[in-house]
Amino acid sequence: MQWEVVIGLETHVQLQTNTKIFCGASTAFGAEPNTQADAVSIALPGVLPVLNKEAVQCAIRFGLSIDAEIGRRSVFARKNYFYPDLPKGYQISQFELPVVGKGRITIQVGDVEKTINITRAHLEEDAGKSVHEDFHGMTGIDLNRAGTPLLEIVTEPDMRSAAEAVAYAKKLHELVQWIGICDGNMQEGSFRCDVNVSVRPKGSDKLGTRREIKNLNSFRFMQQAIEYETRWQIETLEDGGKIQQATVLFDPDTGETRAMRSKEEANDYRYFPDPDLLPLVISEADIDRVRSTMPELPEAMQARFQTEYALPAYDASIITASRGMADYFVAAVQAFGGEAKLVANW
Ligand code: ADP
Ligand code: MG
Repeated sequence: MQWEVVIGLETHVQLQTNTKIFCGASTAFGAEPNTQADAVSIALPGVLPVLNKEAVQCAIRFGLSIDAEIGRRSVFARKNYFYPDLPKGYQISQFELPVVGKGRITIQVGDVEKTINITRAHLEEDAGKSVHEDFHGMTGIDLNRAGTPLLEIVTEPDMRSAAEAVAYAKKLHELVQWIGICDGNMQEGSFRCDVNVSVRPKGSDKLGTRREIKNLNSFRFMQQAIEYETRWQIETLEDGGKIQQATVLFDPDTGETRAMRSKEEANDYRYFPDPDLLPLVISEADIDRVRSTMPELPEAMQARFQTEYALPAYDASIITASRGMADYFVAAVQAFGGEAKLVANW
């Protein structure tokens, strides 16, 4: 039998704001544990969240960059669960009404262009961090990261190979840096992907049962994890087994994925609108203000380079793959008497 793999991604993008999403504590990376954990971050009783306008502007920037509907009225909800790094007992997120609706991102794999549909993107706060290395037989809690603004970007299950998933993740990684909403630092956790993988007989239009690989923060690991997971699911099915919906972790040392929890033990988050926060209303004027500060986007720049510098599509696409490269190219052409093709080749 021939199999087809189906992949959808959920990406957590850390927004480049100076302060947290619901309070004035700093978001700078690398400070001594709990030195950026104010009353709101550690969830003292009676504190109230105040929404960071900058985080909303980042979300609008992203929405505009993927040609999405901006939610004119979105709602913050409490996602309830217990974990030591979440002292409130809930994470503030968005559920039914997200700030960014349906949009699209175009990827290139080899010679083939493909559109990946974005389901939604919503604002939420990050949790703290459990620290296992520093204490013998104990776990420490660092709440510096608690309340850091995140944009979670969800795709439709549109990808059909590890290569497509990685191409999408790379494109998104470049885009969020290009529009200046994320520093893109994957080692520091500024860009993390959850990858949902299922397989089905080729030709079928029914989705198979998916397993979700959590928290991949390297493109190489993403590629390896999807390839391993795909092989494992196909072998399981061919051996007469069934796939159980589950959350799995990728172990870079063994190159394998391992189940973390199954859906039977899945959380029931009991989402409900956060009574401490008003609905977020975004006006046309708000959107226009953000639009007027948007940089030229990679696709537009690529088209312009093709006409302005008479470059082949291939050259223009390579040069506009990152903003740093594009800026460097323009400066180099200028310094080199307008010899665009020569600079492009170089
Ligand atoms: P949840 O919020 O419980 O993780 P969603 O239905 O919102 O579930 O889906 C999350 C992600 O999983 C989306 O990116 C979606 O495209 C993807 N997805 C859903 N079903 C499948 C499937 N059968 N195979 C692969 N990916 C899937
Ligand atoms: Mg999920």
